[in-house]
Amino acid sequence: MTFDVVASTERFHPGSSDLSLGKIYMFLWALLFSSSMKVKPLSDVLIKDGTIVTMDPKRRILKDGYVAIEKGRIMDLGRSGKIRAEYKSAEEVIDASGKAVLPGLISGHTHAALTLLRGLTDGMRLDELTRKWLWPFESALRPEDSYVAAQLACLEMIKAGITCFADMHFNMEDVAKAVQDSGLRASLSVAIMDQGDVPLTSEEAVRQNEDLVNKWHQKAGGRITCMFGPCTVRTASAELFLKTRRLASRHKVGIHLHLSEVEEDVKFTQDHFNKRPVKYLNDLGVLGPDVLAAHCVWLNDAEMRILKRAKVNVVHNPTSNMKSSAGIARVAEMIALGINVGLGVDAAVCNNTLDMFWEMRVASLIQGISQMHPGQLSPEKALEMATMGNAKALGIENEVGSIEVGKKADLILVELKQPHLTPLVERPKSNLLSHLVYAISGRDVDTTIADGQVVMRHRNVLTLDEAKVLRKAEETLYKVLDRSGIATRTRKSG
Ligand SMILES: [Zn+2]
Repeated sequence: MTFDVVASTERFHPGSSDLSLGKIYMFLWALLFSSSMKVKPLSDVLIKDGTIVTMDPKRRILKDGYVAIEKGRIMDLGRSGKIRAEYKSAEEVIDASGKAVLPGLISGHTHAALTLLRGLTDGMRLDELTRKWLWPFESALRPEDSYVAAQLACLEMIKAGITCFADMHFNMEDVAKAVQDSGLRASLSVAIMDQGDVPLTSEEAVRQNEDLVNKWHQKAGGRITCMFGPCTVRTASAELFLKTRRLASRHKVGIHLHLSEVEEDVKFTQDHFNKRPVKYLNDLGVLGPDVLAAHCVWLNDAEMRILKRAKVNVVHNPTSNMKSSAGIARVAEMIALGINVGLGVDAAVCNNTLDMFWEMRVASLIQGISQMHPGQLSPEKALEMATMGNAKALGIENEVGSIEVGKKADLILVELKQPHLTPLVERPKSNLLSHLVYAISGRDVDTTIADGQVVMRHRNVLTLDEAKVLRKAEETLYKVLDRSGIATRTRKSG
C-alpha cells in the first residue's frame, strides 16, 4: 500500500463505483451534517494547520490540513486555506501546526486490570507467570480494584494516543465504568472459562458474559461495545465454545479469544482432540469474520489457510510474545495471505507499557529479524494494523480507524517539532511514516480526542484525576497482593 502525500484535497465525495456499505453510511452522515449545518453552522472542534494522516482507502496525507468535528463525528476535512467560514467559529479551535493528526490508535488485545502487575513478573514464561502471579492475583481482585486498575490503564492509554481498546478480563462491569468515565472507546468481554480450577460451569460462565452484553453493549453513548471472551482452548471446554458461538451470533457481537499463543496450546488440543487448535475451533464452528484471535504465534500453513477462509481477524502482540519467549507470529505471511491482522499491547503484566507506537515499531522490527531480511513489515503496514486493522478486528471499521467524513472523531495530535523527529523532509521522499513508527513514542502525543471530546490537551488529561489515579493504583496493588498471599510468598522465596 502506498501513501500519497497531497497538498490539498476536496470534501468527501463517495465514488460512484465501489459503493461499500461503509461509504454509503458515511455519505448519509455527510448529508445529515450538510442539512444540519443550515440550522447551526458551527463545528464543535476545528483542528487546523496540521499534517493529517488520514488512513483513508487512498492513504492520503494532507499537508496544512483541517478537520472539523461536530456531535462527535468528522464533518469535513481539507486544506486549511479553504476552511469554510462557519467552521472558524467552532467552540474549540486547535492549532495543529507542527503536529501530525492521526486516527486514534486502537489496541486490539488488552487486559486493563493487569496494569497493576507492571514490572513484577519479568523473566517468566506465560504458564509460570499465570500460575505464580495471575491466578492468585485475579482470585483476590475485587470489582473496585478492577475499576482502579482500568482507570490507570485508561489514563496511560489516553497519554499514549490510544482512543479505543479490546479488553478481556473479570469484573468487566467495573472496567466498563472506568471506560465510561475516561471518555475512551472499548470493546469489552469477560474472560470466560470452565476448565481447570475454575469453579464455574459453562452455563454460569457464559451467563456472566451475556449479562455484560445485555447491560453494556452500545452503552456510554455507543462508545462501549461487547464481545464474548472464551479465554483459551485450555481453559474453555468445547461446550463453552459452542455456547459462546450461539450467543455471540444471537446478540450479533464478536468473539475475542487467545489462540495458539504458546506451544502448550497446540500440545493440549493435539493430546485431547488429535487436532491443532485452529482446526479444533473451526470444526466446532466457532471461527468466523466476527472472531478476534489474539496472538496466533503457533500456526502452521494449513491453519493460516483456515483463518483466511473463515475471515478470522488476528491480533498480533509482539512485545508480549517476545518477553515471555512465546515465539514470533508469522505476521508478514498472514498479511500476504490476505488475513486481516491488527496489533495489541496485551497487558502491562507481560509488556510493561501500553504504547502502540512502541508496539508498531516492535512489530515491524521483529518480522525483519525473523526472516533475516528488513522490510518485511513496512511502517505503513504497521500503522494500518494499529488503526484500520484493529477497527476491523473489533467490527467497528465503519466508525473508527481512519480520518474520514462521517466517522467518529477519534483523533490524536503528535508533536513533530522535536530533535528526535528532525529532519522531517519530503525530498527525496517523505520520512513522516518512518518517524511515526520508528522514532515516535506515546509521550509525543500532545492531544487526544475520543468521540469528538478532547480527553487530553497539551498532555493534561481532562477526564481523569491523574495524581489520584496513580496514588489509588499503588494503594490498590498492595491491598490485592496482601489479600492474594503473593506478597508473603515472594518475600519468603526472595
Ligand atoms: Zn491476552
